[in-house]
Amino acid sequence: MTTKGVNWGDIEGIVLDAVGTLIDPNPPVAVVYAQAAARQGLVVEVLEVKRRFHQFFRVDEIDEQLGPLATDEATEYRRWRRIVGNVLPDIPDPDRAFDELWSHFGTSSAWRAFDDVAPTIAAFRELGINFVIASNFDSRLRGVVEGLPALADCGDKLVISSEVGFRKPHQAFYQHACAQLGLPPERVLCVGDDPENDVNGPIRAGLNGLLIARDGRRSGDLTSFAELARTLAEFRPARSK
Ligand SMILES: [Mg+2]
Repeated sequence: MTTKGVNWGDIEGIVLDAVGTLIDPNPPVAVVYAQAAARQGLVVEVLEVKRRFHQFFRVDEIDEQLGPLATDEATEYRRWRRIVGNVLPDIPDPDRAFDELWSHFGTSSAWRAFDDVAPTIAAFRELGINFVIASNFDSRLRGVVEGLPALADCGDKLVISSEVGFRKPHQAFYQHACAQLGLPPERVLCVGDDPENDVNGPIRAGLNGLLIARDGRRSGDLTSFAELARTLAEFRPARSK
């Protein structure tokens, strides 16, 4: 594990990214989009959908109507409409496709939690380390988290950009996460799968940050939560029970 200068003895709180870090769409996003297209008789290649999704997800991160990285529920809704329209430009009924996809990804059965999530959360609790789940997803994340057994009791730990008013990597987002933890930024460690949103942005805001690389193809500071829990335990003996 690479530790990027984290002072482990100082860490009192953890900010966990959601998508790609704790949960993943299952089946994958591109498959779900291709299935929505197929229901309207449109055949699209899953690989092409995947390429377009990554392209338009990134370029659409800033909504000019509210200013850079400012957001709310309506902004996220418009953003996803644009993304779906850009990913499936030839779909006969774009409203139907959008409604189906919006509803699908707001359902917990469309997602799975990674296997190490439940034991890691149990380890945080045993170590007396507080955590929040901090995400650029919109308020649909609340229903998703409630319906996943590994995260069902984390409803009070959500920090969601559309509710905060700013998306990662805006500093106000991380400040809000620290406030929810009741900790100064230097006592907080962000862990996530996006180098900008989960590592560089937090570090600029005075927090610590580590990159998790789930798929093993990219390099990260850690590849699973097990080593994170082990390292935290090493520097922070479990509270007496
Ligand atoms: Mg992520």
